[in-house]
Amino acid sequence: MAVKATRMALLLYNAAMSVETTGSSDTPKQRLQLPALSLAELTQFMKAAGQPAFRAKQVCDWVNKGITDPARMANLPAALQQALNEGLICSPLTLIERQTSTDGTRKYLFGLERGGNIETVLIPEPSRGTVCVSSQLGCVLDCPFCHTGTQRFSGNLSAGEIVAQVLAVKDDLRNDPLPEGLHTDVTHIVYMGMGEPLANEDGVHDSLSLLMGEQGLNISRRRITVSTSGLVPQIMRLGEAAPVNLAISLHAGSDALRDELVPINRKYPLQELRAALDAYPLPAQRHITLEYVMLAGVNDRDADLDALCAFVNPQRERVNLIHFNAWPGSPYTGTSQQHMHRFAGLLINKGLRATVRRSRGDDIMAACGQLKSHLGGQLKSQLEQRAASADSRDSDTTVSGD
Ligand code: SAH
Ligand code: SF4
Repeated sequence: MAVKATRMALLLYNAAMSVETTGSSDTPKQRLQLPALSLAELTQFMKAAGQPAFRAKQVCDWVNKGITDPARMANLPAALQQALNEGLICSPLTLIERQTSTDGTRKYLFGLERGGNIETVLIPEPSRGTVCVSSQLGCVLDCPFCHTGTQRFSGNLSAGEIVAQVLAVKDDLRNDPLPEGLHTDVTHIVYMGMGEPLANEDGVHDSLSLLMGEQGLNISRRRITVSTSGLVPQIMRLGEAAPVNLAISLHAGSDALRDELVPINRKYPLQELRAALDAYPLPAQRHITLEYVMLAGVNDRDADLDALCAFVNPQRERVNLIHFNAWPGSPYTGTSQQHMHRFAGLLINKGLRATVRRSRGDDIMAACGQLKSHLGGQLKSQLEQRAASADSRDSDTTVSGD
């Protein structure tokens, strides 16, 4: 409550100051981010800036289209465009680089207004467009197979910075539509980019409210997935506050192996994770996804399959087998296609739902666990290495127990 009151005071102060100080260099330093404002907050901003209330709805409509630069909001008077620029951080992200995969996947490298880089991925399909958002700058959790985990952690993203990733992709899709046959708008969001979403509860919960809000992008909770390595109290709180689809980075069915692959397991072992998953609210016909990256000789043996089967609750959960996406210097080798499909088949024979996830954007290092912000040159040399060692992962297929 106190936080909300401070936020509102700051908003009103900024709006008032932007009117009084327009044209001067006396702009207030602490400014809220436009993509993080609700319609109600924008209405307050307009009031304080001496603007009619209907302007808030106009700005909101632009933002929902992905346009956050006031100069592009054609129906606003110049004075209001300037007041928005003075009073708010309108575009917290700047596009540094965009890469397009042969399968249509787009990877964006954004610079943050406050410093640091993040990556966002668009995964287009014929009937949907999924944006994979980052939630942190790096990750502290150190899963040894994950590229993001090797990056130094330097902070949480704000709700505005998370929502701005989705808005920027929407804008990009309008300016540069996808080839025919691919859905050219954002319909689904997955929190599977850089970072551990549930280690950034403020940013993630607030961004979820904004993305799901009727006056915002109005995306159904059924179309949003939060992926977590298994922070148990935070999973419970997510279930209470915003029960979106849940994906768990499981990767092992025994504590001994999971302690190694997902070190947060030492704090929240499988028994505690089990209780959190059993308590998570699920709509009818929906399942929790258990992600399982397949590492040759590490978690793909018969004993691993037995441990996995013993953990899964087949009524409420399904297993999604993921190809290991190699990165330069990564210490593991991915399981072969053939063995992955055999593993999936065995799970299905045991009565589980199991799928093999199609790898997307692998040629531009946009696949899961490959996200790590690079500068152009480094990225280029890594892409060259990838091209030289290209394997058959692009021709993935899906096996489904559904
Ligand atoms: N921190 C969250 C979300 C980001 S990672 C989490 O761990 O769930 C998104 C997914 O990519 C997770 O399931 C993660 O385990 C998986 N992943 C990480 N590195 C990978 C890699 N090199 N290859 C394939 N999947 C990977
Ligand atoms: Fe962090 Fe997830 Fe990578 Fe683990 S898999 S290091 S939790 S981003």
